[in-house]
Amino acid sequence: VKIQSERVKSIQSSSSLTISAIAKEMVARGEPVIDLSIGEPDFNTPAHIVEAAYQAMLAGQTRYTAPAGTEALRQAVADKFRRENDLAYSAQQISIGNGAKQLLFNAFAATLEQGDEVIIPAPYWVSYADIVRLNGGVPVVINCPEQQGFKLTPQQLQAAFTERTRWVMFNSPCNPTGMIYTREEFAALGEVLLRHPDVLILSDEIYEHIALGNTPFVSFVQACPALKERTMVLNGVSKAYAMTGWRLGYAAGPQELIMALNKLQSQSTGCPSAISQAAALAALQGPQDFVREATAEYRARGELVVRALQSISGLTLAVPDGAFYAFPNCAAYLGKRTPQGQLISTDTELVRYLLEEGKVATVPGSAFGIDGYIRLSFATSRANLEVALGRIRDTLASLS
Ligand code: PLP
Repeated sequence: VKIQSERVKSIQSSSSLTISAIAKEMVARGEPVIDLSIGEPDFNTPAHIVEAAYQAMLAGQTRYTAPAGTEALRQAVADKFRRENDLAYSAQQISIGNGAKQLLFNAFAATLEQGDEVIIPAPYWVSYADIVRLNGGVPVVINCPEQQGFKLTPQQLQAAFTERTRWVMFNSPCNPTGMIYTREEFAALGEVLLRHPDVLILSDEIYEHIALGNTPFVSFVQACPALKERTMVLNGVSKAYAMTGWRLGYAAGPQELIMALNKLQSQSTGCPSAISQAAALAALQGPQDFVREATAEYRARGELVVRALQSISGLTLAVPDGAFYAFPNCAAYLGKRTPQGQLISTDTELVRYLLEEGKVATVPGSAFGIDGYIRLSFATSRANLEVALGRIRDTLASLS
C-alpha cells in the first residue's frame, strides 16, 4: 500500500531535530554527549509565566479560543509591536499560532499556488525550504557567502525575481549564522522590493531580543515602512521567554493575509492551546527582566565560544551579531583523515566524527544550504561549553 505522498517524499526530517535525537539516544546509552545541536534555550520558563498558565487553567481557560487567538493576546502582541518596534498593528492584523513554525506553514499554505517561487537567502533555517515544498512552492535558494557577511545583496535580490516569485524571506538575527541586517541594508533591499509590487515579504524576527554585540536589531518593517502592507512579521515566545515547548508564535501583517491564515487555522488545529496563550499573555505583559538576563548570559557564552573557536587553528569564524549560534568555517578539515584512516570529506562526515569521537553534537552547514561549516548552539551552560569546545579542539587535532 502506498503510504507517503510525493509531497512528503520530497522533504526531509528536520536535521537539527534528528541529530539531537541521536545525541539523546547516545546519552541514554550512558555516553557523555554534550548537545550543541539544538536551538532551544536551556533556561526554564520564568515562574510568573508558569503561574499564569496554572491560574488560567484553574479559572477555566481550558476551552477552544477563536482560531486567530484570544482578543487579549492579540491585543498584547499589537502592544508589543508598538512598545518594542514602534509599529502600529490592530488586533485584527495579528494571528496566533502553535509556534512560529506553524504560522510559516499557514502563510505558505494560504498563499502559494503549485510552482510559485519563494526566494530564500542561504544559509537559512533548515525548515524554510521544506515548508515551502510541502505547500507546493519552489524554494529559490540564493547563496550568500561569508565574504558578504552571509547577507543577501540588492543585486542578488534583483536577479532572483521571476514572474513566479511570490515571497521573499528574511531572517535577522539569522539562524544559523547569527548575522543581523542593519537598517541601511534592509532599506537597500526594500528599494528593490518596491519595484516588485506583487511580491510578499516574510520577516522572521524570532531572535529579536538576542543581540550580542553592537549591531542593534531592527525590524524589517521599521527599516522599510513603505512595505508594511505586504510584509508578514513572524515572531513568538519560544526563544525570548524560554517557551519552546508551549508552542506559541505570532504573526503581524496585512489584514487580508491574516484573515487567510485564520481561515486555514480554523480548519487545521482550530486554535492554539488556550493555556499557552494565557502563558504568552503573561510573558508579553509581565516583567521583562528574564529577557535581559538571558541575553546577558548568551552574550557571555557567545564571547566564550568565539574566543575558543578563534583559538582552534584551521577554523575561521564570522563573529555572530545575534541569536545563540556560532557558525565556524571548517573547510580546512575536509579532506583529512581520522587516526583510523577514514576520510572526512564533507561537513556532515565531520559532524558525525565530532559526535562519535568527540561526543559533541553539532549541525553541518549543508543542512542550512551551505557546505563547509558547522553550527554550534550556545544555548547551554558555560561549563558545558568549556568542555565541549575542548573536545572539539582535541577531536579536530586528531585529524591529519
Ligand atoms: N524561525 C527560526 C529562525 C527558528 O530558528 C525557529 C526555531 O528554531 C523558529 C522560527 C520556530 O520557532 P517556534 O518554536 O516558534 O516554532
